[in-house]
Amino acid sequence: MPAPVLFHHPSSLEHDTGGHPENARRIVAIERALDERDWLGWDVRQSPAAPRAAIASVHAPQHIDRIEAFCRRGGGMIDMDTIVSPGSFEAALHAAGGCVALVDALMGGSADAPVVGASLHRPPGHHAEPAQAMGFCLFDNIAVGAQHALDARGARRVLIFDWDVHHGNGTNAIFHARDDVLFCSIHQSPLYPGTGPASDVGSGPGEGFTVNLPVPAGSGDDVFLSHVAHVVAPLALAYEPDLILLSAGYDAHADDPLASCLVTDSGFAEMAALMRACAAELGVPLGIVLEGGYDLGALSRSLVATLEAVGAGERAPLPAVGVHPLALRAQERLAASGWPALA
Ligand SMILES: [Zn+2]
Repeated sequence: MPAPVLFHHPSSLEHDTGGHPENARRIVAIERALDERDWLGWDVRQSPAAPRAAIASVHAPQHIDRIEAFCRRGGGMIDMDTIVSPGSFEAALHAAGGCVALVDALMGGSADAPVVGASLHRPPGHHAEPAQAMGFCLFDNIAVGAQHALDARGARRVLIFDWDVHHGNGTNAIFHARDDVLFCSIHQSPLYPGTGPASDVGSGPGEGFTVNLPVPAGSGDDVFLSHVAHVVAPLALAYEPDLILLSAGYDAHADDPLASCLVTDSGFAEMAALMRACAAELGVPLGIVLEGGYDLGALSRSLVATLEAVGAGERAPLPAVGVHPLALRAQERLAASGWPALA
């Protein structure tokens, strides 16, 4: 099996947010942990900047212009949570470009293409709305990657699974009325940004293709793993995507300062192994895209555990996962809404 591919770029360090929890130390911690393990033997590449057209495929062109102009003028606060500096626009172009390059590497058509990869950058992306930066996010990197897979790499359907503890309102909004991207999110509720109730199932032709799985504060490995094993993975198999992308945030970790869930390092590894098994069963590639995660130790350990689990391919042991009552309720809801029986 070809080595998995990992995209990163030094511009991630030049997005200066001051004393904000989403700061360059996150990337430094991740890269130090990976470097200590020889980058797990992955094929490490520098991300290109995303072509403007790729970003404009999911964002208003004026949004891109506004971010660029604001950064050029020296930056500042876009809102209470979202701060940019002169280097932020470049960082954001490469964060989106990492996802485009990841999709190209995974779906480029060559016989020795890797089946697993990762795009590790900041700023994160999943809160960025079509025409509005918010929640530390400027462009929705994973959405740019998914759209590129559909437009340029022959994908007919893409699954985006978001396990960041916050609801990915940006990705949710971008693909809300579409059935060619199935967006599935586990997130703590109530919590910022307040979106993503179970009743939000998409709209128009996209009805049923947005699957929100809110969980209460205090949810740990059992709740998250049960949702992955008994809801997300069966949905993925029923949907038959040509690509699976993971919005991998690590702020559902027990040590994270911004939320109140209790997922452990090994819980993330087990969720990753389940999604890797799912991709293998479908015979499609799996891409990991970094979102949040604000405790540097938890972030770097859990990310390394994720990459080890997906890099181990089909050899990764799969956890035995019981059906949690919350996952059972989600199954019943989805079955009632027309998805094939998920049990
Ligand atoms: Zn988050």
